[in-house]
Amino acid sequence: MARPFWLGTGWKMNKTRSEAAAYCATLEAASDLAVLPLQLFVLPPFTALAEVAAALADTPIMVGAQNCHWAEAGAWTGEISAGQVADCGATLVELGHSERRAHFGETDALINAKVKAALSAGLTPLVCVGETAEERDLDAAAVTVARQARMALSGLVPADAARVLLAYEPVWAIGDGGEPATPAYANAIQGSIKNAVLDLAGQSPTVLYGGSVNPGNAEALALEPEIDGLFVGRAAWQPAGLLALARQVAAVVEGK
Ligand code: PEP
Repeated sequence: MARPFWLGTGWKMNKTRSEAAAYCATLEAASDLAVLPLQLFVLPPFTALAEVAAALADTPIMVGAQNCHWAEAGAWTGEISAGQVADCGATLVELGHSERRAHFGETDALINAKVKAALSAGLTPLVCVGETAEERDLDAAAVTVARQARMALSGLVPADAARVLLAYEPVWAIGDGGEPATPAYANAIQGSIKNAVLDLAGQSPTVLYGGSVNPGNAEALALEPEIDGLFVGRAAWQPAGLLALARQVAAVVEGK
């Protein structure tokens, strides 16, 4: 069976619980979402995780956290374990976003520990990799993302490694001031990520693209053969944005 094309959004440190509920209500009312050939997902902040998971439980939209700790439990004040994320009804967890690498000192080794914790809790890890602006060059970028992806999967048996989703998010492409990667550039790097982890996962992994995805570039990105999904920030922070992208992308990936 063909793998689904992924489309989802992480809200970062945005939205109150009532804003999250309103977002979910708009998605629930969009009856065509269930039949689109897409695996949709939403990653709210921890504060809204359980409510969003409950609100979307009867929809095919997956819900996940934006981070988790590597330990099962214990004296880690202020942290949230993978088990606690799963207990909220989430099934996904984003790990290693470039903001966490840059602002919270997350290393490849630490992200690997979090991947293991997530898998043990039954969650699907969505691991972000991506080169910095200084490494923005096909050869340099390929080295960086290969290291990040291989380290994320280090020590996993192939069956577990195959459960991990990867997201190629060039740091220079993300957020305000970000410049989206061209479809050809993203496709080339995504192909190198897949080659880099083939031996660890025993199969070609699912690799999403993220970084300034918007209605103007989503279709061209989605059509690239190595792009298995789109991970969207700002353009999907309003439900109308996610819905519009979902309908747009669904129309071009059908039969991809
Ligand atoms: C992100 O931060 O992961 C992201 C994809 O953001 P944006 O789409 O807003 O660039």
